[in-house]
Amino acid sequence: MTTFDVINPATERLVRTVPLADVDETDAAIARAEKAQQSWRDVAPADRARLLRRFADAVDDDLEHLASLEVANSGHTIGNARGEAGNVRDVLHYYAAAPERQFGKQIPVAGGVNVTFDEPLGVVGIIVPWNFPMPIAAWGFAPALAAGNTVVLKPAELTPLTAMRLAELAREAGIPEDVFQVIPGKGAVVGERFVTHPGVHKVVFTGSTSVGKRIMAGCADQVKRVTLELGGKSANIVFADADLARAAATAPYGVFDNAGQDCCARSRILVQRGALDEFMELLEPAVKGVKVGDPGDEAAEMGPLISAGQRDAVASFVPDDAPVAFRGSCPDGAGYWFPPTVLAPVDPASRAWREEIFGPVVAVLPFEDESDAIRIANDTDYGLAGSIWTRDVGKALRMARGVEAGNLSVNSHSAVRYSTPFGGFKQSGLGRELGPDALAAFTETKNVFIATKE
Ligand code: NAD
Repeated sequence: MTTFDVINPATERLVRTVPLADVDETDAAIARAEKAQQSWRDVAPADRARLLRRFADAVDDDLEHLASLEVANSGHTIGNARGEAGNVRDVLHYYAAAPERQFGKQIPVAGGVNVTFDEPLGVVGIIVPWNFPMPIAAWGFAPALAAGNTVVLKPAELTPLTAMRLAELAREAGIPEDVFQVIPGKGAVVGERFVTHPGVHKVVFTGSTSVGKRIMAGCADQVKRVTLELGGKSANIVFADADLARAAATAPYGVFDNAGQDCCARSRILVQRGALDEFMELLEPAVKGVKVGDPGDEAAEMGPLISAGQRDAVASFVPDDAPVAFRGSCPDGAGYWFPPTVLAPVDPASRAWREEIFGPVVAVLPFEDESDAIRIANDTDYGLAGSIWTRDVGKALRMARGVEAGNLSVNSHSAVRYSTPFGGFKQSGLGRELGPDALAAFTETKNVFIATKE
């Protein structure tokens, strides 16, 4: 049997060894999910809602345990990990309201009555990355289950523990067997099988753009439904008329949260030229003040990177001759630590400016005016998120409309909210998750005409 050693990234110690599923086990799980879907779709809406609320309550009762698992498995700070478990609870509660509100439409037509039904797709395969194991899983499984689908979910190899626990909690809460299955395994084995198996009717993938493209190409073969949430290189745009003190004080948290391993990380800071010097003076103490250390410590604001490989990948963006303006600090010794790092001035053609780093490294570039800021912000294949800092409401709205990205925040670095849609423009993704319309991504519209003429 193939296994995977889960390592604590803050200590490099073994946490647990997890068995990895092979293709036969994956096929068996998909077959069970297909069978379970026949009865799950027929569970009365109020009962399906009640079961999802019970699942949410079970997550809430287990919140401290889930959070400590995530600290040990992923090196997330305890504060963040609690928030992530709480997010799973909230997403379940939000979509628990959906089964009883899954209205179709009655459309006026001649000669009869026309109604639409939102039918579940069947079995949904969800592939999760390692950076936010709990929330990203829930953004898929909660609306998928609410819509009457069953779910097979593959966590990332590096971070399976909280997803495995969530599957136990679902069973304890009364979600019927095989309605929500978690299958730890390799992307090339279990993940690929979700794409190729005809019994999986939709793939929800969150991860790198390169793997996302392969998934999309693979799904085309069966015209399989697919949602993609991919990489990002988001801009934090600071105008000279902004509250510079606030913009600088919050900029580190817009990019270094979760050690920069965040698809929405504002990893490019664009500052209007006239304010650049003042902004950099304010940014330096803010970056040096980020508390990097033992993620189990209540005061920690940033933990380690997920793996030695990720640390090497991030370090490759900061070679010896890199234009480091200033850095924060991080512990020595065991653990995959990397200090918060600010690069300036950077060459806009450099890898650090153009590629997703997925670590605590941010690059700064000046701009002249609104159109220059939009040109620079949009000069990327990505389009996931962004922030705009200005006191001018009109300018904020013009910029928000001009930046090609799915999630923009003004005078803040807004995190993902479960009640609002989330997803990317361009190569940051396809489709939207969360918000009031998420069930549409897990249903097919069926149109039925009933003749009333004799
Ligand atoms: P990754 O693409 O390497 O892996 C993501 C998942 O896909 C893992 O579960 C992996 O096992 C699986 N996988 C790998 N190869 C596969 C294949 N051939 N077929 C099917 N599944 C396969 O990404 P990662 O390194 O785990 O995560 C980091 C990336 O995820 C970053 O690029 C980041 O921006 C992106 N991300 C995006 C969002 C978003 O919502 N847009 C959120 C989080 C992370």
